[in-house]
Amino acid sequence: MIYYTYPGFRNKALTISYDDGLWSDVHLLEILNRYGIRGTFNLNSGCMQEERRIGKDRIAELYKGHEVATHGVEHLTIARCPMTDVVKEILNDREALEELTGKIVCGHAYPNGSYSHEIKTLLPSLGIHYARTATDSGKYTHPQDFYEWNPTCHHNNRLLEHAKEFLAFDLPQFQYLFYVWGHSYEFDRDKNWDVIEEFCKMTGGREDIWYATNAEVCHYLMAVKSVYTSVDEKILFNGSGQDIYLLRNGEKICIHPGLYSV
Ligand SMILES: [Zn+2]
Repeated sequence: MIYYTYPGFRNKALTISYDDGLWSDVHLLEILNRYGIRGTFNLNSGCMQEERRIGKDRIAELYKGHEVATHGVEHLTIARCPMTDVVKEILNDREALEELTGKIVCGHAYPNGSYSHEIKTLLPSLGIHYARTATDSGKYTHPQDFYEWNPTCHHNNRLLEHAKEFLAFDLPQFQYLFYVWGHSYEFDRDKNWDVIEEFCKMTGGREDIWYATNAEVCHYLMAVKSVYTSVDEKILFNGSGQDIYLLRNGEKICIHPGLYSV
């Protein structure tokens, strides 16, 4: 039998997602980078001239090593808008953020947690691969639907208790994903920077955790879907563009793109 694992044969992954691109992100990035925790920052390209937001000229440098994703050009509550506005909000944001970062931007976080079935079905055509909601699942599972990706918890929702629970998991038959979201300005407002600092100290720098951006998690799980095998599982084919890690009867196997057989 085969169990897929995360890269490096790990069965735990951690990712975070922070919105709006205010200057408080600088402090958050400093903490994350210190502990090797990675994630996704959802930005509004049409609001960057505001004094409280990180300016266009700093985006590429500050978010290096993390993912930049769309959050709508103007941060509109898109479920209230005509679909033509939704298209512009997301596609124009993608284009602007791609110009600032020099990378393909393929993620989205719904501004004000606003979405609808119609919006979800539109996103693939706009080159969006996943979209995050503002609904805590309290779980450590993979999303059933990447266009309605419910995070595990907001950082004000028992973050350290969740972290303890996550670190204590020790069942190799499960694959765990811990997904934290929020806004860095909330740490200023609530005077609780110590919570994220403690969280990173607990969960960072560990051999058994894969630290990934949202897109890396999404793309890896999609890539796993493009592996197929013979019935006896002696022949494996990796139809994706990246290495896939798995356990075959307990044996660690990393399959490169293409055919693998033993
Ligand atoms: Zn927002």
